[in-house]
Amino acid sequence: MKVLKFGGTSIGTADRMKNVASLINNGEEKIVILSAMSGTTNMLYKISEELENKESQNANKFVDQLEENYRKVVQELFTSPEFNNRGLELIKYHFNYIRSFMIDIFTIKEKRTILAQGELISSVLFYNYLLENNMESKLIPALNFMRIDNNLEPDNYYIKENLNRELKQYPDCKTFITQGYICRNMFGEIENLKRGGSDYSASIIGRAINAEEIQIWTDVSGFYSGDPRYVNNAKPLPRLSFDEAAELAYFGAKILHPSSVLPAKLANIQVRLKNTLKPGDPGTLITSKSFGKGIKATAAKDGITAIKIKSGRMLLAYGFIRKVFEVFERYKTSIDMTTTSEIAVSITIDDKTYLKGIVNDLQLYGNVEVNENMTIVCVVGDNILEQKGYINKVFDALENFSIRMISYGGSRHNISILINSEDKKEALIALNNLI
Ligand code: ASP
Repeated sequence: MKVLKFGGTSIGTADRMKNVASLINNGEEKIVILSAMSGTTNMLYKISEELENKESQNANKFVDQLEENYRKVVQELFTSPEFNNRGLELIKYHFNYIRSFMIDIFTIKEKRTILAQGELISSVLFYNYLLENNMESKLIPALNFMRIDNNLEPDNYYIKENLNRELKQYPDCKTFITQGYICRNMFGEIENLKRGGSDYSASIIGRAINAEEIQIWTDVSGFYSGDPRYVNNAKPLPRLSFDEAAELAYFGAKILHPSSVLPAKLANIQVRLKNTLKPGDPGTLITSKSFGKGIKATAAKDGITAIKIKSGRMLLAYGFIRKVFEVFERYKTSIDMTTTSEIAVSITIDDKTYLKGIVNDLQLYGNVEVNENMTIVCVVGDNILEQKGYINKVFDALENFSIRMISYGGSRHNISILINSEDKKEALIALNNLI
């Protein structure tokens, strides 16, 4: 059985949903995982933020707008009055449900329930479209089997048992539809796998059923050797290894959610990235093997904050770095890059939510310096560290830029460099000339 995930733009209009229906109509056994239609999750965020700020009038305005968009989608999607009515009823139900949260006490629980509505709507609309067009399928609710544990990690045992139970109910069915992104937490409450999390759902589900392949369908033809917005000669990459793909996804190539590589790698299930708008394009195939040598791609991640802790106490001391790292752990903030010298340690983070608290706590250990608006640019390739000369080439390419940090040797597949965000474009062009 294959797992196919379709992102928001792939099902962003009624026509695109119809296109996806024709793409999956091929007799193969599959689980189809759907995101919310594009723009929906953003709008649901806006609605929840207005409700958090007790601006229910504004929230209502956005709910009305979104509902109107969906009413149009329903009219374009279905042909028969019966399915048209069914669609309109469904939309009414979900939007009235959202309106029921215009209450005084609006907590994170209500917010998560609102955020889940996008995937719940898109999947049921799509399922009904298949029904109307006599394409056999079954809808299996993700909330019946997707669960995260108290560390917010997927509860793989629970997922496997419960997903297989759902599938076994329909032994003759070849096409299952479910929602990406949404899940329950250990208390059974509605949660989600964070922005862009449907890719992660796809690989968790792929691992749970030991899928033959995981396909991620978006609106681009796979990973590119560089970001086409900045680099003219960027080309699609036909093959990548799991490690190369993880580095690229993590360091800014938006096509794949970085967390989604690991479950596929652990279960050794190949991942294929495909373009819904150009299904004939080969896309990128990600497997445990690597093909080709040298630098294959560049990527960039913006919004990075560098924090330097300088302390005489670090000199010849042990346990200092542990204390520094513990501060980040306390604030559940993950670290991207680190470099150390005998008297200072520099760390980068991409999530500034708890920056104030982090800086406060770090000041216990030394002088703290913060630089915001930085960018990590990186070059990725298989074993580039073991092949001579690459670091020289990278330094030569970046000779005109000021480099704040460099990470070499952390992984065999990646060299990352921290620069000012305003130098990003030129730095990417210079690095791409190395490919
Ligand atoms: N709908 C969610 C989001 O926009 C999840 C996803 O599309 O992957 O982040």
